[in-house]
Amino acid sequence: MTTVTSPLLPPLDDFHSLLEEIWDKRWITNNGSFHQKLEKALAEYLGVKYLSLFTNGTLPLITALQALHITGEVITSPYSFVATTHAIWWNGCNPVFVDIEENTCGMDPKKIEAAITPRTTAIMPVHCYGIPCNTDRIQTIADRYGLKIIYDAAHAFGVHRDDHSILTCGDMSTLSFHATKVYNTVEGGALIVNDKEAKQRIDYLKNFGFANETEVVAPGINSKMDEIRAAYGLLNLQQVDAAIEKRKHIATRYRGALHDIPGIRFFNDIPGIRHNYGYFPIFVNAREYGISRDELYLKLQKHGIYGRRYFYPLISTFSTYRGLTSANPENLPIATRLANEVICLPIHHELTEEVQEKIISLIKR
Ligand SMILES: *Cc1c(COP(=O)(O)O)cnc(C)c1O
Repeated sequence: MTTVTSPLLPPLDDFHSLLEEIWDKRWITNNGSFHQKLEKALAEYLGVKYLSLFTNGTLPLITALQALHITGEVITSPYSFVATTHAIWWNGCNPVFVDIEENTCGMDPKKIEAAITPRTTAIMPVHCYGIPCNTDRIQTIADRYGLKIIYDAAHAFGVHRDDHSILTCGDMSTLSFHATKVYNTVEGGALIVNDKEAKQRIDYLKNFGFANETEVVAPGINSKMDEIRAAYGLLNLQQVDAAIEKRKHIATRYRGALHDIPGIRFFNDIPGIRHNYGYFPIFVNAREYGISRDELYLKLQKHGIYGRRYFYPLISTFSTYRGLTSANPENLPIATRLANEVICLPIHHELTEEVQEKIISLIKR
């Protein structure tokens, strides 16, 4: 069976040595030495100044909205993992869905402006598949209307534009280190902020609001990464570049083999962007290709190839959200179509050329 991804696992012997260190120190969570080391190492690797580790990629989204005191309406993308919109809901805010652009799968800046009301306080875009959103235009809109921007950058680990991390765009950006992501700490995540005071506040918020032993300065949550996963994360950081390099080879091979198939569309590298090759989405135009996305999806499954339809169904179609005015499919034509066309093909550091050839020939027929 071939799945869409395979978790990057640290060498077991190395992990065991670090576990022995943890056992010796008897310090297993609460800002221990591995936690501190991983925060520093990740900030350096990613090229950002202020990063705070979390236990997953959903809590930094929720915490970012809390930290920025977001209320009212938050404009967001329906073409994402459901956690993006849930984070807005968990803050008692109302999500407002805006359609995406076909060429980035990110929110369409032209449509953001039309969705702003007097109740809008923030924009939560998604760097879908690690493709950077149109961040300059989104920033211009946010500045014009006095809105905050929180990027769900769960897919954008290590993505750079013109040698700068895209994680410093907007007011805050979040990462997920879930097992299925390019870089994982089993479960984990991070919040990237632009100044020291914001990091201090985030560090309080992720630890119940404790500023010190006796003072609680805000109604915080518990989202501290433990020492075991921080140690695991340090080891994975050493091998993530090699894993991304392997993913890049696979993406290049897919592109070479699939470019002349009518009705199959995919993304090429964008000049000036350092990609992480976390996903390889293809979009199936049933009329030109001959069979529908779901027929191809099931055909691959029949041969043991388990792609994923990220992001189908759209978040705006789930029962909690489909009653919202902005969830009307007529408001979201591009997202609706792409959700019906997409299959993310298997791509990971362990995918063999042989299996990839099998996937390619199944798509070619
Ligand atoms: C994975 C993911 C998340 C959630 O991350 P978890 O670590 O699973 O909580 C949020 N947004 C997007 C776009 C994701 O892909």
